[in-house]
Amino acid sequence: MTADERAQIRRLARDVAVEVYGPLAEEMDRERLPISLDQRRRLGDLGFLGIAHPERYGGAGAPLAHALAVIEEFAKVCRPAAFQIFEANTGPAQVINHLGTEEQRERWLPGIVSGERTMAVAISEPDAGSAATDMRTAAKPVDDGFILNGGKRWISNGGEADQYLVYCRLSDAPGSKGIGALLVESDMAGVGFGAPERLMGFRGIPSADVLFDNVVVPKENLVVPAGDFGKLFGIFSIERLGNSTMSLAIAQEALDRSVRYVQEREQFGKPLVEFQSVQVTLADMVLQVEAARLLLDRAAEGAGTGLPNPLHVSLAKCTANETAKRVTDLAMQLHGGNGYTEEYGIERLHRDAHGWAIAGGTPAMQRIRIVSELLGRKFDQRK
Ligand SMILES: Cc1cc2nc3c(=O)[nH]c(=O)nc-3n(C[C@H](O)[C@H](O)[C@H](O)COP(=O)(O)OP(=O)(O)OC[C@H]3O[C@@H](n4cnc5c(N)ncnc54)[C@H](O)[C@@H]3O)c2cc1C
Repeated sequence: MTADERAQIRRLARDVAVEVYGPLAEEMDRERLPISLDQRRRLGDLGFLGIAHPERYGGAGAPLAHALAVIEEFAKVCRPAAFQIFEANTGPAQVINHLGTEEQRERWLPGIVSGERTMAVAISEPDAGSAATDMRTAAKPVDDGFILNGGKRWISNGGEADQYLVYCRLSDAPGSKGIGALLVESDMAGVGFGAPERLMGFRGIPSADVLFDNVVVPKENLVVPAGDFGKLFGIFSIERLGNSTMSLAIAQEALDRSVRYVQEREQFGKPLVEFQSVQVTLADMVLQVEAARLLLDRAAEGAGTGLPNPLHVSLAKCTANETAKRVTDLAMQLHGGNGYTEEYGIERLHRDAHGWAIAGGTPAMQRIRIVSELLGRKFDQRK
């Protein structure tokens, strides 16, 4: 795909998002409703769920940057719909794409690309968040597969997804060395879900604990064996770019709405934009959004159809996450009382901004990765 084609797909995404999904966004948030199967299939029919997947599984085989452009346009107006595009293109399906066997790719990717099925990623546990390698969920090898026990927390699409890529202990080796990943179907015996979480934002994106009680997982569902945790987290960089894009979209939307508002709203007999402190606030918002966009573009361009540079990813994620929180806060300030109402949607942007900054590794953890990449050494958080 060329740059022209990317601009074209961005325009198409913008039109569909605004016309079809935008009008549903407020209700999804208010009622905590995810998008329906039909609405997801429609995203598949339009080709949005397979942009960054190979053509032989129904995808477009396009660079990651194309998928990110579509995610951005959707995330500006309807984050529950954008989440589906994010998860399909940059989520656990990329682990299948990059690390799965040919048989696994053929088995699982077409369903995700068409929107028929969704796959969530299950890493975090009640006592293993930032310290993901403290996870205890474990799969015991048996003759023809594994017996999986444990539980995961904060799983986006938990209870809603058909499949879960479960990071778990596959051997007795300590820390990251014993961790790999299994594909678990939601209807396997022994898979259960906690009550839906009532999150501050992310309200059209279900979240729940995912629990495993002696789940028999066939050996064909082993995606990443113990010892390949480094590779697994290498692929997770793609998800972090998707996450950064969600944050950038939120910030851009808050900025765009503020630009319009300060020119329309009058106080003291003139538009707000005529006041110098409003100009300075707006300039601060532009500075942050543009910086986040450039860092994200660099990381995405560098990835092509492969893996991004981890330093570039952490720089982009940290900046985009923090930009989204700050810029939505400033947008609320510029909107005055209207910004604090649900009607104007600014508070929804602000609530969602906080969620994306925690998901996928907090800005504090990204900062540690930045220094680690910069100096070419690891910092053991346990010593
Ligand atoms: C909206 C949302 C969606 C999510 N979706 C998923 C999902 O789909 N799948 C999944 O597996 N997980 C998901 N998560 C979980 C997410 O990955 C974790 O919440 C995140 O990694 C932080 O872990 P924690 O919540 O346990 O916080 P903690 O690790 O307890 O951190 C608390 C605070 O301490 C700081 N901190 C911790 N360790 C250090 C350190 N060494 N140095 C400096 N500061 C430190 C953190 O930065 C943070 O500010 C989601 C979370 C949210 C909020």
